[in-house]
Amino acid sequence: MSKHTNAQSLDCALDVFRGHLRNASELVVRLYERLDETRITPGKTRKEIARLFDEPLPEEPQSMESVLSEVESKIFPNSTLYLSPRFFGYINSGGNQASILGELLASAVNQIVALWHFSPAASEVERRVIQWIAEFIGYSGEAGGCLLSGGSAGNLVGLALARKHKAPFDSDSLGMRGGPPLTVYASQEVHASVDKAMTILGMGRDQMRKLAVRDDFTMDLDALERQVSKDRDNGCHPICVVGVAGTTNTGAVDPLNPLADFCQAQGLWFHVDAAYGGPAARTELAGHLFKGLERADSVVIDPHKWLYVPAEAACILVRESQALRHTFQVVADYLKKEDEAEADAPFDFKDCGPQLHRNFRALKVWMTFKAYGAKKLRAAIHSNIEIMRYFADRIDQSEDLVRLAPVPLSIVCFQYCTADVSRHSDERYLNDLNDRLIDTLERDGRVFVSGTTIRRKRALRVCSVNHRLRREDVDFLLQEIRQVGRSLSGL
Ligand SMILES: *Cc1c(COP(=O)(O)O)cnc(C)c1O
Repeated sequence: MSKHTNAQSLDCALDVFRGHLRNASELVVRLYERLDETRITPGKTRKEIARLFDEPLPEEPQSMESVLSEVESKIFPNSTLYLSPRFFGYINSGGNQASILGELLASAVNQIVALWHFSPAASEVERRVIQWIAEFIGYSGEAGGCLLSGGSAGNLVGLALARKHKAPFDSDSLGMRGGPPLTVYASQEVHASVDKAMTILGMGRDQMRKLAVRDDFTMDLDALERQVSKDRDNGCHPICVVGVAGTTNTGAVDPLNPLADFCQAQGLWFHVDAAYGGPAARTELAGHLFKGLERADSVVIDPHKWLYVPAEAACILVRESQALRHTFQVVADYLKKEDEAEADAPFDFKDCGPQLHRNFRALKVWMTFKAYGAKKLRAAIHSNIEIMRYFADRIDQSEDLVRLAPVPLSIVCFQYCTADVSRHSDERYLNDLNDRLIDTLERDGRVFVSGTTIRRKRALRVCSVNHRLRREDVDFLLQEIRQVGRSLSGL
């Protein structure tokens, strides 16, 4: 026993603890060993899974061996396997190994990254990681920023920044009663978290203007100009344009340079939601799409998507490094420091966002950059794009599949159109068939794709931000889709 142990201590002897750590790492290795064979989804009902966890609050201790064994038998097999390159749903990273170590070590050292002197090294690591992310995507080297839970939090912070800097009244004190309605602009393809942010900030979803998109699902600039001028005529006060750099539906990247010009001319805050697409900004295959990103006032990017970091890790970047502090600093008596006037005042992350207790999520991102290096990470992103474009080509060569959107990044949307040509023009039938196809693939469990609607057509949406993705995985996916599609359409 260590001399720090008392009668109530929850700690065990260090030798025993060492054994627990080893056992836990064995669990991780066994999880990885199953990667190639395991189902992506558990294939059980909600009830069956709920039953596994239906037990009263444990009053007495259970041995760590048996707790770990429950993790392995109940939790791992009933979790969705994002780790697998055959997971093509939503936008979920495969999770890299360096981050697993990072999460373990971060919770061991248990830092609260709120005030610099609470967590000196962790604060500096977070500052460094923010600079690295900015550099990785080609944003200003002088950028300020802050790590957050996700892109949703990032968009909330982005709109809070916009309001603070562009509202014609003191919204901090007066709330929204201080002046005219504040309007925000984005394309129809914008992520729902921006609507949520309008609600949370009390600006109201009715003040969110969703603009028409062009054929390639990027924002129609004429529609933007018309709407802003109409709103000004009607007494609204436009504050912000949200450009999306990689939409969730299709990966479309809005025309960032023209949007930056427009915002500059109109005095609007330019927020770029690059939660998904950001990491592709300096790749050979997609880099040209992101021109103008560096001109944004704020950018959100999710390392837990295309930097292969497991959840949660997102980052807001701001061009004016003090912008976050202006927006979020509220000083409480119990957090005042003796020497507030200190010239090189240390950096307090609590002033950069909504949270006070902030975990050391920077460590896993820092370890990701160090363990793999920017070159290798960029190569993995490049490879994801290349493979998904190969997949798109295969779809284009197929008679029974119709692609519904361009593939600027790593999302492919398409519809299965039965080999029964007589039904090709029956829209309702095809929508229903594709819905059933998605459900059946999920129940079957060997691959996972999610669905979406593209111009009123139900579509299979195949996305990968997984560094394990190989060509054979998309070949396998295609084969599965065909097989299930044929059997559903009775062929
Ligand atoms: C995923 C996503 C979000 C939301 O991010 P979370 O990390 O899930 O909160 C916001 N915007 C875009 C474009 C996204 O793809």
